Amino acid sequence: MSTHTTHSTPTTHVLIVGAGFAGGMAAVRLAGHSRGRVAVTVVNPRPTFVNRLRLHQLAAGQQVPAPSIRRMLGPDVTFVEGYVTSLDPDGGRATVHGPDGVRQLLFDRAVLATGSTTEPVPVPGGEHTHGVADLAAAERLRHAVASLPAGADVAVVGGGFTGLETVGELAATRPDVKTRLVTSGEVGGWFNPRAAAHVRTSLEGLGVESVGGARVRAVEPGLLLLDDGAEVPSDLTVWCGGFAAPPLARESGLAVDPDGAARTDAALQSVSHPQIMAVGDAGHTVAPHGGRYSMSCQLAFPSGAHAADVLSAEARGTADGGPAPLDLGFQGRCVSIGSHAAVLQLTDRDDVAGDRALTGRTAVALKKFQVRGVVAAIGIARRAPGAIRWPGSGRAPSPVQAPVAG
Ligand SMILES: Cc1cc2nc3c(=O)[nH]c(=O)nc-3n(C[C@H](O)[C@H](O)[C@H](O)COP(=O)(O)OP(=O)(O)OC[C@H]3O[C@@H](n4cnc5c(N)ncnc54)[C@H](O)[C@@H]3O)c2cc1C
Repeated sequence: MSTHTTHSTPTTHVLIVGAGFAGGMAAVRLAGHSRGRVAVTVVNPRPTFVNRLRLHQLAAGQQVPAPSIRRMLGPDVTFVEGYVTSLDPDGGRATVHGPDGVRQLLFDRAVLATGSTTEPVPVPGGEHTHGVADLAAAERLRHAVASLPAGADVAVVGGGFTGLETVGELAATRPDVKTRLVTSGEVGGWFNPRAAAHVRTSLEGLGVESVGGARVRAVEPGLLLLDDGAEVPSDLTVWCGGFAAPPLARESGLAVDPDGAARTDAALQSVSHPQIMAVGDAGHTVAPHGGRYSMSCQLAFPSGAHAADVLSAEARGTADGGPAPLDLGFQGRCVSIGSHAAVLQLTDRDDVAGDRALTGRTAVALKKFQVRGVVAAIGIARRAPGAIRWPGSGRAPSPVQAPVAG
């Protein structure tokens, strides 16, 4: 481990892998709060920010802004363009492949903020499907959608938030193709009954046919085979079954869950290598309800900010009693169905849908504000590091456990 000295101030070197919502927030808040005691370096494969909340819109052919990450992070954070291909947690060393070749970066503490991507499709023929969870997949889908002839069949598999938003956007953009939503559950089943009805009528209004209650068991040319024996025509299939973590955590020897996310304690430190923290979609932190926090911006921003607070307290020597646990409660989910319908479903702090939901123009406006405003949050935190706050879980946060493995 390397502890460096600048004048009389010891400097901890913190490496943040990934400049998405969580990594960006961690970087600017840490640089702002640590008053020169921490040198913050961020590595990201490209110099422009990917707003994943809009990838389904990009896939449908819309122009989506891609702001400069360097400008977003500001002068107090060192930005390195590249992909971290290996991380040695015990040696405090990362290998980065970038446009200028391969380089090594040393760190005292690292924050894994590598996000998530489309899960490996678990059925035969899955390699013929498209995804929307990362930029490369969304760009491939954009080309495929643009070259679809009129009258083609499109199927979106998965009735979660990403599937709903993707099928709505594709149907709105390409009314000349037949769009279907295939989901094993009830369409809109997560929402309260009134909001669920709004989701279904909004999809119907866009001409989306819903095929609920059956699982896809195979993808064949021009066809999906379902486990109830039905067949769904599909010239282009978009798999929105779920997200999985990129391989870095697993390949670095960190304790991971079956989806490859780094298992952390309540303070967001790896349970196997506490010198590594994991935030946003990259971390599997047990929430007060006993399950994993839902992958979302509601997790990404607070977890990034919390990691910054843990690291700056450590650097300033104010972390009496060990690192603080994250205390986070959820508030609501805003989902768009095309550009003219949306639902803001309020939730309890465990992310369970409640009685209250907003639809209509207000929900549409709020959703537009959300998908554009999330990018501004990192710039706001750079100028005012303490500006980002979040609700607590309403329960005593879980104590931070000792690591289980070395
Ligand atoms: C189409 C779509 C719509 C969505 N809509 C919503 C929504 O409405 N509301 C909501 O809350 N959530 C939504 N989500 C989920 C949300 O986008 C994610 O939960 C959020 O982006 C997670 O933030 P993050 O910072 O953890 O990861 P990301 O935003 O994925 O950022 C991770 C960054 O790490 C980089 N990276 C990965 N591996 C490496 C490596 N080895 N080296 C260097 N860099 C690396 C990636 O390139 C990326 O820049 C949506 C997701 C999708 C795909």
